[in-house]
Amino acid sequence: MRSFLGEFVPFDILKMLAGEERLNMTLLALNLSKYVNGVAKKHGEISKTMFPGYPIDSITNGVHSNTWTCDSFKRLYDQYIPGWQNDPFSLRSALSIPKNDIWAAHADAKKKLIDHLNEETNTGLSYEAFTLGFARRAALYKRADLIFSDINRLAHISNNVGKIQLVFAGKAHPRDGQGKEVIKKIFSNIAQLKDRIKIVYLENYDIELAKLLTAGVDLWLNTPQRPNEASGTSGMKATHNGVPNFSVLDGWWIEGCIEGITGWSIGSASGNITDDSKNDAQNLYEKLEKVIVPLFYNNHDKWIAIMQHSIAMNASFFNTHRMVQQYALNAYLF
Ligand SMILES: *Cc1c(COP(=O)(O)O)cnc(C)c1O
Repeated sequence: MRSFLGEFVPFDILKMLAGEERLNMTLLALNLSKYVNGVAKKHGEISKTMFPGYPIDSITNGVHSNTWTCDSFKRLYDQYIPGWQNDPFSLRSALSIPKNDIWAAHADAKKKLIDHLNEETNTGLSYEAFTLGFARRAALYKRADLIFSDINRLAHISNNVGKIQLVFAGKAHPRDGQGKEVIKKIFSNIAQLKDRIKIVYLENYDIELAKLLTAGVDLWLNTPQRPNEASGTSGMKATHNGVPNFSVLDGWWIEGCIEGITGWSIGSASGNITDDSKNDAQNLYEKLEKVIVPLFYNNHDKWIAIMQHSIAMNASFFNTHRMVQQYALNAYLF
């Protein structure tokens, strides 16, 4: 930086702004910004403890509603909530869309996904089976393999409570050896469960695949290590397609989760950082077995009510229209 800046910024001032030892971009940004925010309420709080003395606000992320709503739900919203694209707050009235129509729109998105997966992987996934999705960067803290902590218990749930099938996607950064290890581990879990549960891991996770997945699965899973998930946005994409979330209470889900109404939490909100994987895994199995899988197979109306609340409570709020308004109001215009 000294060679780039020359005399433009004296070196002792650069050190004051960006750290003594080496250039710290976060410190530099904190010191030169008029306004600083985290990307979810929790992220704002955690950032304040990491950088004491800096005023740090929060503006929770959102996703672009029209981009992340699949064709069948677009048609449904067009019919019942005209103008929703430019006024996604009006998705709050999803509660009054007839349940049959919600289910038909979901079945359409699910069929598209399952057809694509069967073409790509020849695994014979079914349209009826309860389908969980997990797709994101394969970074270690995301714990993509948490659901395989006890593969026998997972197989037991699928055999005895209701059939489960799993879809994974996600690439590791080329220099993230630990992330690559997680993917290898999942492939060995898939092999171990070969004759008991159908599981696919898709290559080349990208935006097109993310659109198919977040619309076509029945439940969106996220199991990050607290408090590392700054926001998490794929779950917001799922809500736009009526797909409930099942996630660790971290990032945006602390704000979006109403237990049994918009989806479900995994583990406690205050779990400590080092040693909660065991508890989280147990809680995950417990809820899948006792609450979620039975509800999906035995109480269709209540399941669709949860889909409706995902849209009405969460798609109506966790969108870029609301987010940009908050940036304008709190960051740029004040
Ligand atoms: C949305 C998205 C992400 C981010 O998902 P998170 O849940 O925030 O990890 C990553 N990659 C792709 C391709 C996406 O569409």
